[in-house]
Amino acid sequence: VSRVIPVETFDLVIFGGTGDLARRKILPGLFRRFRSGQTPEGSRIIGAARSEIDSDGYRVMIAEAIAEFGGDEASDSDSLAAFLATLDYVAIDAKGDGGWADLAQKVRSDVVQAFYFSVAPSLFGDLAERLHSHKIATPDSRIVVEKPFGRDLDTARALNAVLSTHFNEDQIYRIDHYLGKETVQNLMAVRFGNVLFEPLWNNHYVDHIQITVAETVSVAGRGSYYDKSGAMRDMVQNHLMQLLCLIAMEPPSRFGADEVRDEKLKVIRALQPVAPHHIVRGQYDAGPDGPSYRNDAENPRSFTESFVALKCHIANWRWAGVPFYLRTGKRMKARSSEITVVFKDLGHTIFEGDTARHRNILSIRLQPNEGMDLQVTIKEPGPGGMRLIDVPLDMTFADALGADAEEVTDAYERLIMDVIRGNQTLFMRGDEVEAAWRWTDPIIQGWEARNDVPKLYDAGSTGPEDAMMLLHRDGRKWREVK
Ligand code: NAD
Repeated sequence: VSRVIPVETFDLVIFGGTGDLARRKILPGLFRRFRSGQTPEGSRIIGAARSEIDSDGYRVMIAEAIAEFGGDEASDSDSLAAFLATLDYVAIDAKGDGGWADLAQKVRSDVVQAFYFSVAPSLFGDLAERLHSHKIATPDSRIVVEKPFGRDLDTARALNAVLSTHFNEDQIYRIDHYLGKETVQNLMAVRFGNVLFEPLWNNHYVDHIQITVAETVSVAGRGSYYDKSGAMRDMVQNHLMQLLCLIAMEPPSRFGADEVRDEKLKVIRALQPVAPHHIVRGQYDAGPDGPSYRNDAENPRSFTESFVALKCHIANWRWAGVPFYLRTGKRMKARSSEITVVFKDLGHTIFEGDTARHRNILSIRLQPNEGMDLQVTIKEPGPGGMRLIDVPLDMTFADALGADAEEVTDAYERLIMDVIRGNQTLFMRGDEVEAAWRWTDPIIQGWEARNDVPKLYDAGSTGPEDAMMLLHRDGRKWREVK
């Protein structure tokens, strides 16, 4: 029995359809949805980019991309041929008139229309304007835009202004692919689908919360782009902020796009400014298995951070006094993303001989091994009397859900199908993005004003020593990155 949710017939135009993102993520993802039967008959995908190729040339390019990035599924040659038959291509100039009449001919007005802007943000305005001047877009068309959504509040506002000149907010889908991850959605299911957690989800029972997104990759290959951005802009302002919102938000009245996004926005607005001594910036040094950040970034004098750890507070009744510790970095010890809720100590223990500290800790793993575990205290089995030990109640989704886990869809494909379905719940609203920059900007401006020099850390480590100290000072420690 197929559990895929059907969508209506669509025309999906991918501006930048020959680019890296389209070839690595979007089209392989669309192929997987096609194979699982989620693409209705008659739906079409139209690549639109600068390359002067024809539709057959495009099909060859995408077949190669799926072979390279599509995993095992690429070997299903019958499905691949059927999928390629849904592809079309228009050579287009975002800044001129070339190709637009052609595109207008191809896009149908009686099916769901979505336009994926997989191009540099500087072209968003040109695309939005031409979609209208060539009478292609309708009031029901949807557009999809990618990160980076601005590099500060001003640029984000300018982008929102350009898009809103031509499209209503309910037509704009700002992708943060973290929100498409299975575990991230599961976070909401766990919080709001169980009676167990929500009563404890506040400053009476929670000691602190940690969010770690550790990557092992370097910035090599995209160094010149990354060097203008840094970990704060590239990861914290969007991905970590979204995770923070989902873990901290009030229960929305229903699982609807605006209900959820209203609650997320309130969290961002309640974030207090971060004191400079509550932030640690780092930059990876050369190690035995790789060059330094400055080498990878091709900027020998770079002060850009490849690591950030910070402590922040949400000023509302639920979270008053509960620190949230966030950290993310490149070239770290392991690829590991995790949200950890550390509950408070028991107020009183009746087990007098037991002097160890026992705590309940809930951790939600985004990667690897998506799943969650809850540390609980039990009696050590055997004749040793009432000795207590802490054990994890571990649920790795792939084990717990068996075959169903194979159906776990990639974030991009899930989000694209949400666009076709018209469901904005997992997309960032314009005001959310602006609020996140409003909180991030003063931090970055402070570094720039002081010419802040990031602390070096060894590649393959867990970041600079100061990041450890950030928690040690508070009598706490980071969860191990493993
Ligand atoms: P890319 O440079 O590989 O591709 C750019 C595409 O835009 C090409 O298809 C090119 O033909 C097209 N293009 C450029 N100028 C054009 C013009 N004047 N008219 C029409 N088409 C034009 O870029 P990419 O890596 O695929 O990234 C696309 C967008 O997605 C960017 O905004 C990027 O920041 C964002 N993004 C990319 C990734 C990634 O993994 N590559 C991840 C997150 C976000």
